Amino acid sequence: MTKAIVVGSGPNGLAAAVTLARRGLDVTVLEAADTPGGGTRSAELTLPGVLHDECSGFHPLALDNAFAGEADLSRYGLEWLWPEIQYAHPLDHGAGAAAWQDVATTARHLFDDGDTWAKVFGPLARNFPDTTDDFLRPMLHVPEHLFKLAHFGGFAGMPAALVAQLWKTPEARALFGGVAAHAFRPLTTLASSAIGVALGTAAHAYGWPVAKGGSQAIATATIAALEGLGGRVETGVQVRSLADLPDAEVIMLDTGPAAAADIAGDRLPPRVRRGLRRFRHGPGAFVVNFAVEGGIPWEYQQARAAGTVHVAGTFEEIAAAERQINQGVMPERPFVLLGQQYLADPGRSAGDVHPIDAYAHVPAGYEGDATEAIEEQIERFAPGFRERIVGRHVRSTAELEGKNPNYVGGDIVTGANSAFQLLLRPRVSVDPYSLGAPGLFLCSAATPPGAGAHGMCGYNAARSALAQLGEEVQLGEEARVGPRTVDGD
Ligand SMILES: Cc1cc2nc3c(=O)[nH]c(=O)nc-3n(C[C@H](O)[C@H](O)[C@H](O)COP(=O)(O)OP(=O)(O)OC[C@H]3O[C@@H](n4cnc5c(N)ncnc54)[C@H](O)[C@@H]3O)c2cc1C
Repeated sequence: MTKAIVVGSGPNGLAAAVTLARRGLDVTVLEAADTPGGGTRSAELTLPGVLHDECSGFHPLALDNAFAGEADLSRYGLEWLWPEIQYAHPLDHGAGAAAWQDVATTARHLFDDGDTWAKVFGPLARNFPDTTDDFLRPMLHVPEHLFKLAHFGGFAGMPAALVAQLWKTPEARALFGGVAAHAFRPLTTLASSAIGVALGTAAHAYGWPVAKGGSQAIATATIAALEGLGGRVETGVQVRSLADLPDAEVIMLDTGPAAAADIAGDRLPPRVRRGLRRFRHGPGAFVVNFAVEGGIPWEYQQARAAGTVHVAGTFEEIAAAERQINQGVMPERPFVLLGQQYLADPGRSAGDVHPIDAYAHVPAGYEGDATEAIEEQIERFAPGFRERIVGRHVRSTAELEGKNPNYVGGDIVTGANSAFQLLLRPRVSVDPYSLGAPGLFLCSAATPPGAGAHGMCGYNAARSALAQLGEEVQLGEEARVGPRTVDGD
């Protein structure tokens, strides 16, 4: 039986493992941490009974992609839940804006800018299932849906500051600025709108759902699928070198590019090693999980029903803060992303005490404490918030990296989202997953399509490995259960 080892059990490592196991490979996943799941782990970080997502909370791109279609994790207990409002953006004095899954409802609440919002996001959302077929894989390919991809790329390729000029009101501009900031990029740079346009469109196409029982449910379901196919996960195993591994025809690394270069050492051709070491990481995150009695008293009422709240003020304030973190300067008022997953999944709360997962964008490797800055930002739009805090769990950039080495310097999106790295990551190559040595592959979020707990980096990497193995790989029974068509099958 063809053997595969996957190093790392993040969503990409597990997606690679399932994809390989479905083709009949004997797969073992080795995970350094005591709990599997990487960025999809959940835990009672603050108080007993209050369940937090340690990292990813919202999964708009995990619902309808090639891996989701093949693996059908609902058969293993994964259930998605949606908040009433997908994301909200409070402004001073109780003003703000919000995005519903329905474009027309969103537009109605944006007054003078509603028509433009609907004209931009309506067609993008309708085309999104086809567009994602093309952008959830390496950019160097012949597009299946050329015109739809070009339409999407027309917005995605622009600086976010230019796209924001489509709207006149501070509310609509801030609403777009909030999603654009997910890129951790200066909003004036080329393609800095790419992540915002993708996530903004996804909110209308799929919503921003949470996993029932915490994001850990994604890992639990994927591992159940893997075990059903005869695979296994071993935790508490830190892999430092290929010499640590048993013989296997396929080795998948769910690691950062530099770590992959360290682990693979001399097995890599020098040009590949150089390429991996040139990979650039982005700014960091400083994470605070709160237990809050009675929830957050947002002045802007819609924020009380929103899964995600972008706590950052106007578009101009966001642009200034994102510019600063990219210059290595800690902003006085950082961009704060805040999750209220419990609104969609009430089982995560303990009575009237609710989990709130927040993080601020900070410079790479930031050594200070951003707790106060985060609380200030929330208090600004929700006076009385502080008095309701009954538990707090803090992770600095160093602690994030300590717990998961893929988050270098606190870079939770595994690589700077520069225009170059959005197109060509982790290095310039037709097959970005191959590490240039037979059987050796990279499958983490450092590869296309990049960050997120969607599993598509792992799925694509597994397909690259299967293509390399050629006809030696037999299609297992499972692989015939309704897979979507993907090039190279
Ligand atoms: C605070 C935070 C909020 C986020 N919010 C969202 C969100 O809402 N939605 C979303 O889609 N994404 C979000 N993300 C990003 C998302 O979690 C990541 O993009 C995703 O988890 C990447 O998956 P991965 O499999 O590439 O790597 P990871 O999930 O990082 O997993 C890598 C795994 O490999 C293990 N590992 C690494 N090196 C070794 C080694 N040498 N030996 C053994 N094991 C090793 C690590 O311990 C880890 O378990 C967030 C991340 C963070 C931190």
